[in-house]
Amino acid sequence: MSVNVPFYIHNVDDDDIGKVADVLKSVFLTTGDVTAEFENHLEKYLGVNNAVGVMSCTAGLFLALKAWDIGPGDEVITTPMTFCATSNAIIHAGARPVFVDVESDTGNIDAGLIDRAVTSRTKAVIPVHLYGQMCDMTALREIADRRNLALIEDAAHCIEGTREGVRVGEKGDAACLSFYATKNITSGEGGAIVLNNGEKAELLKKLRLHGMDKSAADRYSKKYRHWDMSVLGYKSNLDNIKAALLLGQLARIDELWEKKNRIANRYIAGLKDIPGVELMGERPGTRHARHLFTVRVPEQIRDDVLGRLQERNIGVAVNYRAVHLLDFYRKTYGFKEGDFPNAERIGNETITLPLFAKMTDEQVEHVIQSVKEAVK
Ligand SMILES: *Cc1c(COP(=O)(O)O)cnc(C)c1O
Repeated sequence: MSVNVPFYIHNVDDDDIGKVADVLKSVFLTTGDVTAEFENHLEKYLGVNNAVGVMSCTAGLFLALKAWDIGPGDEVITTPMTFCATSNAIIHAGARPVFVDVESDTGNIDAGLIDRAVTSRTKAVIPVHLYGQMCDMTALREIADRRNLALIEDAAHCIEGTREGVRVGEKGDAACLSFYATKNITSGEGGAIVLNNGEKAELLKKLRLHGMDKSAADRYSKKYRHWDMSVLGYKSNLDNIKAALLLGQLARIDELWEKKNRIANRYIAGLKDIPGVELMGERPGTRHARHLFTVRVPEQIRDDVLGRLQERNIGVAVNYRAVHLLDFYRKTYGFKEGDFPNAERIGNETITLPLFAKMTDEQVEHVIQSVKEAVK
């Protein structure tokens, strides 16, 4: 039994590498025509008016908060069942993260708990489409409209996801995507903000590049014109090299999704009846983006099961231990055990199994058998 199953293998192919080589052989390496081409394809794929390429989803969340004028004195509601990037971005913007507990079966923010967390200082809600299953964006849009809040989606897991036909960036004021190394399409590091508000998109294009009103491409590809700086911006622009790496992956994204979805369905069939293993709930009418596949095992054995899977050459992860219990959050905001019980329970029980398009049937079977053995 020497099947080896890495946690993740990316899908960059020779064509993608060729596109990067073309950029490297050209004059223009930073944000330019290839970035614009990628943004254009992303807009078409998601059916949104605007895509703004940035250096990471974290930067995207931060810039979106800035574009909606959120900062010191403001509160932003989000979920404790996420990667710390989500709430860190709120803090970087100068605002206070306010957590709301999650649905016990999906791990997505519980829309029914948001109203009671809203105060006169609340300015925005950032839902996270956990593992690739979209939150109830219709319910969240209704709350955001009624309470006059910005709705910014952390769609790092959910480029391909839909719920009752709704896509990311459709009901939210903006949605932030990640092209980090283990995400469904990747440039190592990278991200984008997608939205339908042209004015905010223009502002975000400035904010991603120092607040300048012309990019380097505008300045040098046409007759030289002086640039001005109208707002204080940052440095988070996606360059042509990364955009070139992403173009082909985006074109293949649904093909890759089909493969991952097939593997996830095999996992579900193989694991759903094993005593001691619980699967996440999936809502009808959703197309799960299949970023991460997780199982839950009793809290007392979770860490042992992780170890046993690793001993069988299976790459594992924990997504996520609840953010409010991380040392910094406890120290800074006084969060403690019991504050958000559903998120804590998931955080103590969850194990992420390998899921990538190139997984072989043998690898999938090895993981299923190993989980069975490990929970005995
Ligand atoms: C990966 C991830 C991020 C951060 O993405 P970066 O592109 O690495 O900044 C944010 N939120 C969630 C839920 C993530 O999984």
